[in-house]
Amino acid sequence: MRSLPVYVWRELQSAVTLLDENSSLRETLGVILSWIRENYKCFTVEPFSTYGIDEFSHVDESLMPVEFSSLLPSDITQFKKVIFGYQANEADAIARFLRDTIEALITVETDKQCPKCQSDGMRIFIGRYNGLLAYQCDVCGHSNYSDGSKVSGGELEFVSEKRLRELNMI
Ligand SMILES: [Zn+2]
Repeated sequence: MRSLPVYVWRELQSAVTLLDENSSLRETLGVILSWIRENYKCFTVEPFSTYGIDEFSHVDESLMPVEFSSLLPSDITQFKKVIFGYQANEADAIARFLRDTIEALITVETDKQCPKCQSDGMRIFIGRYNGLLAYQCDVCGHSNYSDGSKVSGGELEFVSEKRLRELNMI
């Protein structure tokens, strides 16, 4: 399936009309995640599963450091514009945009420079198996653990606000 059912896509467009620059980032995240959970089956297939959209439905957003996101409430207007700009059949673009938006909402950025493409700013994740912090570049997608070792596919998890505090990252 390379398209979302039109009525499902319209549901999100309709839900975001309730958001404006006075809405919080947490409300925005809530709107996106409820929509994903209500339409879960649509996201277990490609291209959505490739971008992990189905996985986001399992995130406990109350534990996530949304208030430390690099996004600003003023970015909500741009977010709405993009959502209204896409048609239901632009599934790849929708999947990528949702993944990038949700990731930006629930991760924090450090001022570290990417060792591969030299872009500034990497997002913090944590290793599912080794508990090490990991840094991921938004621009080229490169990631490595804090000890410099390589990250393999499926190893990274989102870091809770509590854990980031314990590690003095926020
Ligand atoms: Zn990079």
